[in-house]
Amino acid sequence: MMIKTLRGMKDILPDEIGIWQYVENAAKELFELFGYREIRTPILEETSLFVKGIGEGTDIVQKEMYSFKDKGGRRISLRPEGTAPVVRSYLENNLNKKEALVKLYYIGPMFRSERPQAGRQRQFHQMGIEVIGSDSFYVDAEVIYLMKAYFDRIGLAGYTIKINTLGCSKDKTGIKKELTRFLKDKTNLLCKDCKVRYKKNILRIFDCKVEGCKALLRSAPKIIDAICGDCKDHFANLKKTLESLKVDYVVDPYIVRGLDYYTKTAFEATHPNLGSQDAICAGGRYDNLVRDTGGSKTGACGFAIGQDRLIMALGSKRESEKALDLYVAVLGEVPYKEGFRLCNGLRINGVSSDMDYQNRSLKAQMRQANRRGAKYVAILGEDELQKDVIILRNMADGQQREIKINNFIDEVKKLKC
Ligand SMILES: [Zn+2]
Ligand SMILES: [Zn+2]
Repeated sequence: MMIKTLRGMKDILPDEIGIWQYVENAAKELFELFGYREIRTPILEETSLFVKGIGEGTDIVQKEMYSFKDKGGRRISLRPEGTAPVVRSYLENNLNKKEALVKLYYIGPMFRSERPQAGRQRQFHQMGIEVIGSDSFYVDAEVIYLMKAYFDRIGLAGYTIKINTLGCSKDKTGIKKELTRFLKDKTNLLCKDCKVRYKKNILRIFDCKVEGCKALLRSAPKIIDAICGDCKDHFANLKKTLESLKVDYVVDPYIVRGLDYYTKTAFEATHPNLGSQDAICAGGRYDNLVRDTGGSKTGACGFAIGQDRLIMALGSKRESEKALDLYVAVLGEVPYKEGFRLCNGLRINGVSSDMDYQNRSLKAQMRQANRRGAKYVAILGEDELQKDVIILRNMADGQQREIKINNFIDEVKKLKC
């Protein structure tokens, strides 16, 4: 029996990798222009980090985490998201002692054992940023603007930016109470999931996609009406700043996000190419997570882009760079030795080159050079070796010339520039 990948996990093959490298390189470049530095945290963490951070009653912690006991009996989990590990590292490594405001980004795989479907794999990939150390609405504006700038930079069109405010934790408690009161005698009208949410995570009812729940919520108390003056100002200032940056957005009062740690600003970007799983980026402010993870009260804000969905939304396949600068075709054992030396010499001089390792005929080697998209082929047989030359053929026009073996690498390098 051939062994296959696990359900919900995928290989990314060389022919597909071009678009992945493209979106990652563009992200790194832009994030760094905005002053963010990369952080790489482990894929495994203590389970309690996510239970505390994301919230006991959330779908992620309740049913989606890959958790198990290691040999020492410790409860550990594959990270289902990137923010809690970044905050853990921020505290553990005292990053706040070096700078008052810390701006970080990460790129990497996350794991959730959901039912796999289009745009939702069990191993998925996120590119995220976190700004830790400020309460300023300018930070929220920067984070949302950076998301927009990134989409524009990679040529993504047709996305929608939706923003909302959830209020501070005091406001959240208040709105939970009001919503409980409102739904108390209407729970029989809720869908099966929302009946559970009603008890465990009531705000999540706001982002239920079931029509009956949506209809019910239209007359429910609104978060925006229940938040304090400070949170209202924060949201109003954010909106004004986004307008000054020419960011188009819509206010969507039903964005609550599936994680407990969000406070004040919550936002997402959606794309019509993606069907029901249409969010390509989600983020917001999380002013209590640093404190809840063991630090002091620290304002923070960030986002995570779902790389798999982003690539689906882009809808284009970018060819991975596979064209070769030069193919070394050889005939005979002694020429092979010399060709192998030259081929490796070219490589370390910045010329991509390759040759045959299967003892094929010259004709087969030329075919292989074509398949690899080689711009030039160098031909070396016994005759050439006798004369101390190598034949260089331009594959575009078929022109050939002889070059002294000693000058060969320098001559080919000149062709590159
Ligand atoms: Zn508030
Ligand atoms: Zn529902």
